[in-house]
Amino acid sequence: MIIAKNSVVTLAFAIRDEQGTLLEESDPTISYLHGGYDGIFPLVEEALEGQKEGYSCSLTLSPEEAFGEYDPSLKRTEPRSLFPPQVKVGMQFEGGEDGQESHLFVVTEVTEESVSVDGNHPLVGKTLLFECTVEGVRRATEEEMHHGHVHGEHGHTH
Ligand SMILES: [Zn+2]
Repeated sequence: MIIAKNSVVTLAFAIRDEQGTLLEESDPTISYLHGGYDGIFPLVEEALEGQKEGYSCSLTLSPEEAFGEYDPSLKRTEPRSLFPPQVKVGMQFEGGEDGQESHLFVVTEVTEESVSVDGNHPLVGKTLLFECTVEGVRRATEEEMHHGHVHGEHGHTH
């Protein structure tokens, strides 16, 4: 099967920095819905379009093509009272304003009065090397197409 719009693509991938250090690895694979559903980096979709199982590629992604540039507006200090009493550095919270994409915020500092959080992705501002191998391709179900994401193993559960 050839990768096209509404294919479910199963990938094994590794992400490295410019020095070749391994930053992130699929464990063992991920599946995403192909065709502009925002399931994976657009440049990766472009490279995989028309390919099939067994295809491997290695792509260099600029910060813009990967996790974006550092966004100072995602670094915030909030009153401590908004957080649970056991809040500590390194804890993660899901947050976001109405109508905006929600972000994962990591606690970076806790004082008696306030809590500082940073919603930037840890790999923000980095040029990344994305290496992947296609481990499987299947056609998405009607329900997956309708939802815009993959169901089942490694996929979304409701
Ligand atoms: Zn769904």
